[in-house]
Amino acid sequence: MIFSQEQEMLAKTVRDFAEKELAPGAATRDEKESFDRELFVKLGELGLLGITVPEQYGGSGLNATAATIVMEELGAVCASTALSYLAHSMLAVHNLSVNGSEDQKKKYLPKLCSGEWIGGMGMTEPGAGSDLLGMKTKAEKKGNVYLLNGTKTFITNGSVGDFFLCYARIGSEKKAIGTFLVEKSFKGFSVGKKLHKLGMRASPTSELVFENCEVPKENLVGREGESVGHMMRNLNIERVTIAGISNGIARAALDFSNKYSTQRRQFERPIGHFQMVQKMIADNFSHYMASRALTFHCAKLVDDQKGSNLMAAACKVFAAEMATKVALNAIQILGGYGYTKEYPVERFMRDAKLMEIGAGTSEVMRLIIARDLLKEIDSSYDW
Ligand SMILES: Cc1cc2nc3c(=O)[nH]c(=O)nc-3n(C[C@H](O)[C@H](O)[C@H](O)COP(=O)(O)OP(=O)(O)OC[C@H]3O[C@@H](n4cnc5c(N)ncnc54)[C@H](O)[C@@H]3O)c2cc1C
Repeated sequence: MIFSQEQEMLAKTVRDFAEKELAPGAATRDEKESFDRELFVKLGELGLLGITVPEQYGGSGLNATAATIVMEELGAVCASTALSYLAHSMLAVHNLSVNGSEDQKKKYLPKLCSGEWIGGMGMTEPGAGSDLLGMKTKAEKKGNVYLLNGTKTFITNGSVGDFFLCYARIGSEKKAIGTFLVEKSFKGFSVGKKLHKLGMRASPTSELVFENCEVPKENLVGREGESVGHMMRNLNIERVTIAGISNGIARAALDFSNKYSTQRRQFERPIGHFQMVQKMIADNFSHYMASRALTFHCAKLVDDQKGSNLMAAACKVFAAEMATKVALNAIQILGGYGYTKEYPVERFMRDAKLMEIGAGTSEVMRLIIARDLLKEIDSSYDW
């Protein structure tokens, strides 16, 4: 990828940070499912937590390409930290920065950009995942507050977050959904069950429970029923940056397995001499490079206001499946050692798998792509 000097510097700064601060504890955090809040404060000190937020609110005023560079560098060292960072900086902070009012931005963004507060986003519910407009959490206006009732699930940073951008139904029409800014101290808000996962184990995931949760009416983002617009405006950058994490995981897996294949000897020579091992190495590299090219192409489209759901979905599905495949190949290259916890490649594979599920599954990405490409056949068809 051809980056500008500033982009090269950003990548190097984050890579050095990740090597120094994230690498040493990555395996332990994964094993113990532990989240290190201090790391978040350090990400804030580096100016990364509000990477796309204008400087007047405490952000760095950078773009989707910069955010994708950061995701790849963090993802290559500790994908869990990268996921929690994505939930904070893209799903919550970027969304608020794009859709929030002046007062809302002034009130919340500085704390979120510094790392004083951790953010998350609550959309998914037990009965509404891919079918997100099927959500049941309700918001009813009572005087100066909205009363929220319902449960969100799979919420990244759920148990450690101070602030959540949440979606709730405000009427019976399918798209009658409002976006609400919820502080963890609000009456009627609590964190529910913590979920134990296959991968991304150092990124806490939990339920959020709303029981007559009192949200001040000033914390409605925009107007009632505008949520679909908020979601849509954020989707492209979310999917491109999540592809950045996939690329980071793949890079870590291929770097590790390439090196291993030069050191591990069988039949009196390094295993890298064997052509079937070379095939995996060549496939890993070419698929990673193709994914990276597509990802930064999409990031540039987003930066040039030319992003589309089609391209973001194509980028996300390709990068996610590439990362799982590269990580599986890396395990294969390491043989039995790849299957043990002595080496990090099994973690890479467990972390990569989430990329095919979170922020829209690979099946949903393919629906979006096919719907766009085939719309001339039948634009009325309800996928
Ligand atoms: C670790 C983790 C972190 C997450 N973080 C967040 C977060 O911070 N905030 C948040 O709101 N959500 C979050 N999610 C939720 C995530 O976005 C959902 O899990 C995802 O959208 C899929 O929803 P689901 O799990 O309910 O699966 P379902 O929608 O039940 O899907 C199950 C299967 O059916 C397939 N399927 C569903 N509909 C169709 C269709 N129309 N055509 C073809 N196949 C279909 C799916 O592709 C999948 O294979 C997170 C999830 C995980 C696992």
